[in-house]
Amino acid sequence: MITVNGKNYYPTIGLEVHAELATTTKMFCACKNDADETRPNVNTCPVCMAHPGTLPVPNKTAIESVIKVGLAIGADIANFSEFDRKNYFYPDIPKGYQISQYKYPIVAGGKLGGVDITRIHLEEDTANSKHDQGNFSLVDFNRAGVPLMELVTEPVIHDAETAMKFGKELQLLIRTLGVGHANMEKGEMRVEVNVSVSEDPNKLATKVEVKNINSFSAAGKSIDYEIQRMIGLYEAGRGDEIVQETRGWDETKQATYSQRRKENSNDYRYFPDPDLAKMQLHEMFNLEELKKGLPELPWAKRERLIALGIKEGDAEVYVSDLKLSNYFEQVVSGKDKDFAQIASNYITSDLLGLLAKDSSLSYPSAEHFAKLIQMSVDAKLNSRGVKDILAIIAATDTDPEALANEKGLIQQNDEGALKALAQAAVDANPNVVAEYKAGKEQLLMFFVGQIMKETKGSANPAIVQKILKEILAG
Ligand code: ZN
Ligand code: MN
Repeated sequence: MITVNGKNYYPTIGLEVHAELATTTKMFCACKNDADETRPNVNTCPVCMAHPGTLPVPNKTAIESVIKVGLAIGADIANFSEFDRKNYFYPDIPKGYQISQYKYPIVAGGKLGGVDITRIHLEEDTANSKHDQGNFSLVDFNRAGVPLMELVTEPVIHDAETAMKFGKELQLLIRTLGVGHANMEKGEMRVEVNVSVSEDPNKLATKVEVKNINSFSAAGKSIDYEIQRMIGLYEAGRGDEIVQETRGWDETKQATYSQRRKENSNDYRYFPDPDLAKMQLHEMFNLEELKKGLPELPWAKRERLIALGIKEGDAEVYVSDLKLSNYFEQVVSGKDKDFAQIASNYITSDLLGLLAKDSSLSYPSAEHFAKLIQMSVDAKLNSRGVKDILAIIAATDTDPEALANEKGLIQQNDEGALKALAQAAVDANPNVVAEYKAGKEQLLMFFVGQIMKETKGSANPAIVQKILKEILAG
């Protein structure tokens, strides 16, 4: 709810997300599905170019991918499903219709990140149009017929932040399941937002749809823009100017603009595609097996890492970076909670910090990194030593124990030897001792520093402090 001049407004947001599926071939033909192909019109054939007499054959992996997403979010997987023709005329759609699903989507219901899902259906992507060519346009059909899943949420979101969070969670799920890459900047995932603002909390008002959104931040900004635009119209007594329409997002102007009055589904003259067989999904797929085969889902991973004692922010870093989290899992495999927490701290703050600063560095092998952490756990290295060795093995991936020995970094835990050094430092600095005894207790660190210097940083600082306190108390 937003209150302006004492009046309450109730924004409601629903999302429609299209995501390309990373199958080897297209949805209804054997053409390569390759988002990275830069040469235009090389992945085409008579089927996806809609030559007369050709017949589509559904891609089973694409159907399976949508089912996996449905299973992951606890949705219902339909038994009966079919493909429909969505008729409209546009140069990027060679058949004059898009094969989509209307009445019988593969997935219905479910919940993701607290947001209720209406449905997920499967369709084919359109070609790419290039309009900035002067007085003509070009069409690249490499993308025409690429499998595309469309997910629709219930209108249950009320602010831009929740909408963006949902989008990111869906992106993460698609990547975790390995069914798509979902890069928004590459158009592999596209978000459309439906926004309405009502003066009555119990009634939905007229909604507009914003398209052409190519980042999560643009999605959030277009939602905020629409909410403010509509409230502005109400406040000016022009609420009746809010009409059902499609708007675009202008990145340069940071504003939405009217594109066209929204067509309703009648305009598309949907009907079942007579070229494609009806599907009995429960017979075509073993849903139990598919469910068992799902990888650990983002929310389950989050929970498990937090139960391990990993900080919430760090857990999020792992959940959203599969490469990093696989590395972490390898490092801590078979180890206990304490080890995992120490390893995680060195990974998220020190290792990632090093890698961000110097692109010539890389992850040391999990084996070497685990060995380094074990040396810290066993008090063979203090934190300075761990950091120094980490910087070296990120460049050379060498054995940390051999390095520590070679560089004399093995931590000195021998109380007898450290006591002698401490006594010598105290004896050599009677003035400092006097100041310390007069109440300047922070001077303890002066002596710790002396001993660290003497041992080239290898002394166990905790033991040194303990010994110094004992000596100085005497
Ligand atoms: Zn083709
Ligand atoms: Mn669609």
